[in-house]
Order: sequence, then C-alpha cells, then structure tokens
Amino acid sequence: MAKIFCIANQKGGVGKTTTTVNLAAGLAKVGQRVLMVDLDPQGNATMGSGVNKRELALTVYDVLLESASVAEAAVFSDKCGYHVLGANRELAGAEVELVELERREKRLKTALAAADADFDFVLIDCPPSLSMLTLNGLCAAHGVIVPMQCEYFALEGLSDLVNTIKQVHANLNPELEIIGLLRVMFDPRITLQQQVSEQLKGHFGDKVFNTLIPRNVRLAEAPSYGLPGVVFDPSARGSQAFVAFAQEMVDRLGTMKP
Ligand code: ADP
Ligand code: MG
Repeated sequence: MAKIFCIANQKGGVGKTTTTVNLAAGLAKVGQRVLMVDLDPQGNATMGSGVNKRELALTVYDVLLESASVAEAAVFSDKCGYHVLGANRELAGAEVELVELERREKRLKTALAAADADFDFVLIDCPPSLSMLTLNGLCAAHGVIVPMQCEYFALEGLSDLVNTIKQVHANLNPELEIIGLLRVMFDPRITLQQQVSEQLKGHFGDKVFNTLIPRNVRLAEAPSYGLPGVVFDPSARGSQAFVAFAQEMVDRLGTMKP
C-alpha cells in the first residue's frame, strides 16, 4: 500500500516545493517507488523535477476533473527517478470548477486509490493556501509533513494549519495526522533559530523530525537547472540532509502503526 503524504504550510516560500522534490529524489535513491503530485498551479515542483509543465498533454487538473487516470497523466522523470503528476496554470481554474462538482474534496483520493499498487510513496506538493486544492491533498493523505523555518512567529503561524488538519481529521479524513515538522533553511549560527528550534521540540516533542535541513545555496540553485538538489549536486550538504531525511521517513514508517 502506498503511503501518501502532503507537504503543506499555508505560508509561501517556506520550502514546501524544495522539500517535496528533494524528498521524492531521496526516496527514489533509497529504492522506493515514488509519485510526486504537484497541486500548485505555479508548477514549480513539476519544473523542478525535470518535467516541462508547458509540454504536458495531461496534468493533475485532468485527474481532478476525472477526464484522466493517474496512470495516464503521470510521467516518469528519467533524471530524477520518480513519477510526476504535473501541474500548470490550467490548475488554477480547477478551484472554481470543482466547487460545482460532487465529491469535490475527494477527487484526488479516489484517483490515487486506483494507482495504489504502483507506488511506495506519494508526495503531494500543496499550494500556499488552505484552498480546495490543498483540501484535496489533505483528504487523500495519510499524513502531513510541515516544512518550517525557525523564525520568530513560527509557532503562531502553525496554529491555522493545525486547526485545518484537525477539522479535516474530524470531518473528512480520520486517517490524517501530522507526521512531523521539518526544520528547513536552518542556520545554527543564528541564536534565534536555535531558540525557536528548542521551542518547537518542547511543544511538539518527537513530531519534530531529527533531520535538520541546512540553508544551502546548492538547493536554491538546483531549480534553475530543473532538478532537485539531491540530483543536481548529491554531495552538497543540503542534498545529503534530504537523503538522510528520506531514510528517516522510511525508518519512521517501519515503526508507525499500520
Ligand atoms: P514554497 O514551495 O513553500 O513556496 P520553496 O521550496 O519554493 O518554498 O522555497 C522558497 C525559496 O527558498 C526557493 O527559492 C528555494 O530555492 C529556497 N530554498 C528552499 N529551501 C532552501 C534551503 N534549505 N537552502 C537555501 N535555499 C532554500
Ligand atoms: Mg511551492
């Protein structure tokens, strides 16, 4: 059975897409069959996985509107070693179109169920909002991975997301849980970041992943080459951290309840 995770945080620029593509590449590296689903109309995760969003015949938009299956719409990225269910600007329209339709928040869940046997992991890159698209991601997922920067308002910013996850858990998807908080763009030289990191651990305990993702320029450069850092420069510190994070995820799942 595929384990399905949303990478979500309603803030923009916190490292969701970077986490999604690098975790996907890291999991592929340790031998997992991975599907990366891009739920952001910006299509950054698609482009950052070596897939040109402008050349896609079918995208996650077609899957949400049930005019294509995941198997039909996903493409394999040779460079990255995982499958990509891509997105482009067309997806922005889905938000409005879905409102009219029945089972509107369960469309992705239904579509992924049909592809369940083909993958070990499905990673969903969410847009920076708590929209119908994100809701589709949260309804489809077993868990949420929350990337966050250790900044002053970090804890406060989490409360909206935590409340949304609680509501989805109560009303739409009883399986949903927060798998963990991933500290990203971390700079240990900054005292405030260390303090917030300690606060996070105090508050969320073992929900904070052990792996820390450092601020690393190679991770920031990789998207302009259409690749995750893990593929673009495997020896970079940030890339090694994401491979370690992929291994931590695999290990955690081994100990998680079925
Ligand atoms: P989001 O998807 O949440 O909007 P992104 O993953 O696109 O965030 O990241 C925002 C910006 O920060 C991008 O330019 C990305 O390359 C950069 N970035 C993300 N993680 C790191 C990191 N660990 N080190 C350096 N730059 C990073
Ligand atoms: Mg993004």
